[in-house]
Amino acid sequence: MSAYVTTNPTTGRTEHEYPGLRDDQIDDIAERSANGYETWRYASVAERAEALAATADLYEKRSTELAQAITTEMGKPTKQAAGEVQLAADIYRWYAEHGPELLVTETLDPQGAAESLVQTLPIGPLVGVMPWNYPYYQVARFVAPNLLVGNTIILKHASICAASSALMADALHDASVPEDVYINAYASAGQVAELLRHPAVRGVSLTGSEAAGAAVAEEAAKNLKKSVLELGGSDPFVLLDTDDMARTARIAARARISNAGQACNSPKRFIVVDDLFDDFVEGLVGEFDRAVVGDPTDPDTDVGPLSSVSARDTVVEQVATAVNQGATLHTGGAPVDGDGAFMRPAVLTGITPDMDAYAEEIFGPVAMVYRVQSADDAVALANDVAFGLSGSVWSTDIARAAEVADRLDVGMAYINEHGTTLPGLPFGGVKRSGYGRELGRWGMGEFVNTKLRRTA
Ligand code: NDP
Repeated sequence: MSAYVTTNPTTGRTEHEYPGLRDDQIDDIAERSANGYETWRYASVAERAEALAATADLYEKRSTELAQAITTEMGKPTKQAAGEVQLAADIYRWYAEHGPELLVTETLDPQGAAESLVQTLPIGPLVGVMPWNYPYYQVARFVAPNLLVGNTIILKHASICAASSALMADALHDASVPEDVYINAYASAGQVAELLRHPAVRGVSLTGSEAAGAAVAEEAAKNLKKSVLELGGSDPFVLLDTDDMARTARIAARARISNAGQACNSPKRFIVVDDLFDDFVEGLVGEFDRAVVGDPTDPDTDVGPLSSVSARDTVVEQVATAVNQGATLHTGGAPVDGDGAFMRPAVLTGITPDMDAYAEEIFGPVAMVYRVQSADDAVALANDVAFGLSGSVWSTDIARAAEVADRLDVGMAYINEHGTTLPGLPFGGVKRSGYGRELGRWGMGEFVNTKLRRTA
C-alpha cells in the first residue's frame, strides 16, 4: 500500500499524506463500479445531464477552495488555477447541455428491412489515470462525457493530487452522482493493472508520460480493453510573418510559461523564418526576463514553482545538457535558490538534430527557437519529432498559414493562436502523442457501444 503524499512545491513542506488503496480493495471497487453501472446506464439522459450541470454549479461555487488545493499541490498560480476550475465547470456544463443531442438514436436507410437504428450506448466501468498538471481539467474532459453516456468511473489521480481528487469526488457526489458511479481510488500503478485485469472494467483513458501510457495500454490490450492515450508533445509554433512583433513575442512567451511550461500542448519549439529570427529572440528574452517568478498565491506571479524539485531539476538538467552539447542559452535556465521548485524561464537557440533537446519534450518554462529559411523548411522541422499533438502557424496571410497548417502532422493545428481548448473542440494527437480524442462529440464517441437494432 503506497501512500499519496503531497509536498508543497513552493515551500518543500509535506502538506498531507493519504493512505493508498489496499490490494484487497481492488475487487470490491471494480464490483461496486459494475453495480453502479447497472443503475446509471438506465438512468434517463436528462437525469445524468442534471447531475453534470449541478457539478458545474458546485465547481463555480467552490472555486476558491478548489483553486487553492492545486496551488498547494502542484504550484499553479492562483489566477491560473481559478481559470482551470472554470474551464472544468464549462466542460461539465457543455456535456449537460449538448451531450443529450449527441445520444439521439440515428435512423439509417433500412436496406430491405422495416427499420435500422443505431444507438449510442455505454460500455461499462472505465478507469481514468490522470496527471497533476491540470488536475481538474484533465479529469473533467474524461469524466463528463462518460458519465453523460452512462459509463461509470474509477479515477486514479496523480499521487500528489490526493486532496484535489477528493474535492472532485465530493463535488460529483454532492451533485447527485452516486458513490459507486464515480469512485476516487488512491491506486498504485500495479493496482491500475489489476483493475484492468478485472472482467467488469471495460476501458482506460490515461493522460501523462509515454512510459505510463505504454504500460497501461499494454495491460489494456492484453485484456482486450480499449484505451485512449493523451501523452506528451513538443509542439511547433511556426512564425512566417507578423505586423506586430512585440505582440507576437508576448503571446508566444505567455503560452510557453503558462503553468510553468508544464502542458502537453505548450509551444515548445518556436520555428521562425530567417528575417524575423533575431527580433523574435530579443522579444522573447525580454518577456521572459520581465516574467515574475515566485509565490503562486501572489496575483502578480506569472511563473510559479514546477510540480516538484525533481521535476525542476530534470528541466534544468535538460537545459544544461543542451548547452554542453553546443546550444546557446540567452536567458534563464537556472534554479532559484531556496526550498521551492522554482527556475527562471529559459530561451535556447542553436539546437541541432544531434542534441538531446532536439528530440525530447521539455516539460518546463523553456523555449527552443529555431531559424529556418522557408515555410517548407519550417514544416520539415516541425514534423521531425516523434510527437504530434498540436502546432500553430502565425502569419498575416491566412491562406498561406492554412496551407502550412494542413501539412503539420498533429492532431490540432491553430492559425494565429496556440493551444485553445474548449469543451466542444476535439483534443488529442497522433504519433507518440497518443491516440483517441477527448472533448466534443469525439470525446463522447470513444467508450460507447454503437449498437445496431434492425427490425425485419
Ligand atoms: P506520469 O505519466 O508518471 O503520471 C501521470 C499519471 O500516470 C499519474 O496518475 C501516475 O501516477 C500514473 N502512472 C504512472 N505510471 C503508471 C503506470 N505504470 N501504470 C498506471 N499509472 C501510472 O507523469 P509524471 O508525473 O512522472 O511526469 C513525467 C513526464 O510525463 C513529464 O515530464 C511529461 O513529459 C509527461 N507528462 C505529460 C502530461 C500530459 O499532459 N500529457 C502530464 C503529466 C506528465 P503516480 O502519480 O501515482 O505516479
